[in-house]
Amino acid sequence: MLRDLHNLVRGLGQRLLPAPATHPLDDREWAAVRANAPFVDRLPPQEAHLLRERIGEFLGRKTFKGIRMRLDPWQRHLVAAYACLPILRIGIDAYRDWQTVIVYPDTFAPEQEWVDEAGVHHQAVVPQAGEAWERGPVVLSWSDVAEDGAVIVHEVTHTLDAGNGDVNGFPPLPRNLSAAEWTDTFSAAYEQLQDEIDQGDEPVIDPYAATDPAEFLAVIAEYFFFSPAYLQAEWPAIYRLLSLYFGLEPHRWADEIPTRIPWASD
Ligand SMILES: [Zn+2]
Repeated sequence: MLRDLHNLVRGLGQRLLPAPATHPLDDREWAAVRANAPFVDRLPPQEAHLLRERIGEFLGRKTFKGIRMRLDPWQRHLVAAYACLPILRIGIDAYRDWQTVIVYPDTFAPEQEWVDEAGVHHQAVVPQAGEAWERGPVVLSWSDVAEDGAVIVHEVTHTLDAGNGDVNGFPPLPRNLSAAEWTDTFSAAYEQLQDEIDQGDEPVIDPYAATDPAEFLAVIAEYFFFSPAYLQAEWPAIYRLLSLYFGLEPHRWADEIPTRIPWASD
């Protein structure tokens, strides 16, 4: 009897659970993505196929909101393409904790500051539409996106980092990666960058990465995908860990990959 009930409830649950939504790109939309995001044509066929699938999943599950601008489908597809690069192998479920991509035309709304009942000071970009924020919306500026799609990879890397709670440069790791090795390797590279900046040397990567370990991971992800040869040469241990983490080897795609919409005017 109990077992029957159990099976009944389980059966019902399976029927009630909606199939994950997807919005597959048609051939024309896919061609536009390829024309707008130069990395797509560098991907080996298997990865390109996977990307198209991921974009469909992304578009089916995420909501886009343009603030003070209308987002055309090709713009959403471009954002989705870059957002899906880091999760080609990891899978779309890694983005399950957030729903919305907010896009401003250029600069974001001014930051708002307030003090809560506990006396804690907060600072955030507050949406003008006044809707509740889901956990961790991704906020982008279109002018930055058009100029450098890597900003999207940067922002979604923060959401991967948040997967185990804190945004601290330590995302949930796959089983084949040692937490100790990750921490040691990233700490050493982070310290090296700090030293270079302190000593006035030319830093290996964008000094913004030295802000904190979360920014370090997000910036290094940009290098991993778009300047893989450079990162591999400068920091092979970091490159190797990221390669295992993302399940990808971008150095085989190209040494350096442009991230600007090729036809966009200056
Ligand atoms: Zn950041």
